[in-house]
Amino acid sequence: MKKETDYLIVGSGFFGSVLAERISRVLNKRVTILEKRNHIGGNCYSHRDEETGIEYHKYGTHIFHTNSKEVLQYLSQFTELNGYYHQVLTTHKNRVYQMPINLETINAFFGVNLRPFEVKDFLSQKIPKGLDNPKNLEEKAISQIGPELYNAFIKGYTAKQWQKDPKDLPASIINRLPIRSSYNESYFNNGRYQGIPLEGFTAIFEKMLDHELIEVHLEKDYFQERDNYEVLEKTIYTGPIDRYFEYCFGKLDWRSVRFEHEVKDVEDYQGTSVMNYADLEAPYTRIHEPKHLHPERKSTQKTLIIKEYSHDDEQAPYYPINDEKNKELYRQYAQKAKQEKDVLFGGRLGTYSYYDMDQVIAQALTQFQKLS
Ligand code: UDP
Repeated sequence: MKKETDYLIVGSGFFGSVLAERISRVLNKRVTILEKRNHIGGNCYSHRDEETGIEYHKYGTHIFHTNSKEVLQYLSQFTELNGYYHQVLTTHKNRVYQMPINLETINAFFGVNLRPFEVKDFLSQKIPKGLDNPKNLEEKAISQIGPELYNAFIKGYTAKQWQKDPKDLPASIINRLPIRSSYNESYFNNGRYQGIPLEGFTAIFEKMLDHELIEVHLEKDYFQERDNYEVLEKTIYTGPIDRYFEYCFGKLDWRSVRFEHEVKDVEDYQGTSVMNYADLEAPYTRIHEPKHLHPERKSTQKTLIIKEYSHDDEQAPYYPINDEKNKELYRQYAQKAKQEKDVLFGGRLGTYSYYDMDQVIAQALTQFQKLS
């Protein structure tokens, strides 16, 4: 016999969990969540390292940041933020620079002492002519910062991260990264409100999903389970959209990452939560040191570091590759998704979008308005 539910939600990341929370509490409807992994929270999942007791983000450092008061207010029902302010450094030829590229990076790299109003002229002398309409990531970056800074800080890192020549990547990826002529070292442009949840990310999801109308089933694959359910309202699908349609137009490309953990017998290994490695000689893209994400907690004698490598793994998609080929393919899937009237597609994987957490939460809240 089939099990009845009002909503069947596939995946317990932010999109699925926000909707589960809203649907159960506001609409008073039953929600069943099917989660393929053995934990909730999607890629935001955090937990404690056994040896050191340090909390870390299993799928790479996640910093909540937003300019949206509405998103912050929503999240504040489940957590307080700890005041952590994200700053990134990058290592090039064994020297450490600030990232994103700012006045400190430019001055240190070129051995000059420019003032903010001098940066534009200084860089424009380096930018080759004819790049008014940059067609790819490389052209876009060179048109903004010139070839030297590009070669030092962008080219190698991007090639490692995407495992592609930056000439074959869309310019839009680099738009995420600000270029600054001041000493502002904030990593995010939209970082009016930022921080890490005081009790970590997983605690938020536990609170969101703690409701008598929500049932969570871990280690359950939707495609094997779906025939067991009768869904009275809608299915909310947050898995890869191409998988949903059995790859009928072909497979979308995703980039995945893998992590290597090491415990170091020092209190502080690198002095910051994320250190990028700009050169190809370092096989990893960055090293995370999660204890720095919680400066409010008591420090431990040892520290945990996590090396991040780019990786091809269809089973663990992280980043959509928004080049022309994939964008076109996604357009076809999105068209087909529109015809599935009883299914709502959302989240990074369900919409093949390079979203940050706050965008996913905002998207889920907007979709909820349409449901109710
Ligand atoms: N990027 C780079 N060097 C860096 C950091 C970022 O070239 O030190 C480029 C790279 O192409 C990357 C993009 O900027 O894909 C966006 O970086 P972001 O940190 O936003 O990526 P995420 O944290 O989402 O992996």
